Amino acid sequence: MSVDKSSVRSLSLEREEVAQLVETVFRAAGWSGEDATVAADCLIGSDRAGHASHGIGLIPMYVDTIKAGNLKPEWKAETVKDDGPFVVIQGNRALGQVTARDATLKGIETARTHGIALVSLINSHHVGRIGHYGEMVARQGFVGMFWVNVHGRKPTVVPFGAREPRFSTNPHCVAIPRAGADPFLLDFATAEMAVNKARVAHAKGEKVRHGTLLDHAGRPTDDPGVLWASPRGSIATFGLHKGSGLAIVCELMSAVLAGGPLVADQSEAGAILNNMTALVLDPRRMAVGEEPIEAATDRMVAWVKSAAAADGVAAVLTPGEPEQANRARLGTLVEIDPTTWGDICKAALRMGLSEADLPRPA
Ligand code: NAD
Repeated sequence: MSVDKSSVRSLSLEREEVAQLVETVFRAAGWSGEDATVAADCLIGSDRAGHASHGIGLIPMYVDTIKAGNLKPEWKAETVKDDGPFVVIQGNRALGQVTARDATLKGIETARTHGIALVSLINSHHVGRIGHYGEMVARQGFVGMFWVNVHGRKPTVVPFGAREPRFSTNPHCVAIPRAGADPFLLDFATAEMAVNKARVAHAKGEKVRHGTLLDHAGRPTDDPGVLWASPRGSIATFGLHKGSGLAIVCELMSAVLAGGPLVADQSEAGAILNNMTALVLDPRRMAVGEEPIEAATDRMVAWVKSAAAADGVAAVLTPGEPEQANRARLGTLVEIDPTTWGDICKAALRMGLSEADLPRPA
């Protein structure tokens, strides 16, 4: 591990040593080696994609949840409907990186057979970065669309026109394969800011764009601390009424479709829970033209990128490119802010690991 000189606040660690630590934490809590590897892959993948909000910085919160008895290794997901292209998986609040990986694999397998699959994973523990599952689908040559709600705790996001929260950061993701490039990947929270990004900003002592967050009285602010104050503040939806509408669509598609819990039904579970509906589609069953979808997507991406960049913008990017660029920049490393790293180390010690298990500065 070394301190990144370009930013005194950022630590760099080798991916492999971080993976070993994360896997050891999950194994110490009772998960199998395979499940621990799946969870570590997803969490570290999020950091490496540039989304620290859904990376290893979640471990202290997960450890709190485990210690409180609200996330247990013996809890497993089960398929409750497997009817041609329609699949419903009851998540039973099991470890979300595993339940969502399995639901995504089931979607790919089902779409191979039927051309299309609609898989609802309901009432899972937090599944992390949705783009991780979008990338799994697109790398197998399928198109993926995901709608996700967040429940298990009080709502954090204010609907358009309101001043008190009614739902949470409900992410949406679309992944489309490309020829010889990482997938087109649109993956975002329908809130102006994911709660965990506010957590990272708060940990770094940074302000956020004014109006992204609202204080407890519904007044716009730039202080991420309002989300940890009492009474608590809240987050605006992105894109005014349109983002607010999409947030509700995520709730409806992920919960109502298969009968999963709405945020209104279950907001005191002591854990962050997700429902996730995935539509997986085989583009080869749809196309009537000669050009494969991957090549046509490449052409569209090139067309968008050919637009002259606005003043102050180095290059026009398309969804998925910032994540690819971040992975390329990091090489074999993971970056983390020192406060969050300290919290992860404390959480690992609370799970019974010793100081010797913690990666050391070089
Ligand atoms: P974000 O605001 O960083 O937006 C990310 C998306 O925008 C990506 O598709 C990215 O490729 C694209 N993008 C970024 N900069 C771009 C540019 N200059 N030009 C073109 N495209 C660009 O993401 P977010 O809303 O903060 O969400 C972060 C992560 O949090 C996501 O991975 C999401 O799945 C995850 N999340 C998970 C949950 C959950 O409960 N599991 C809840 C909320 C968010």
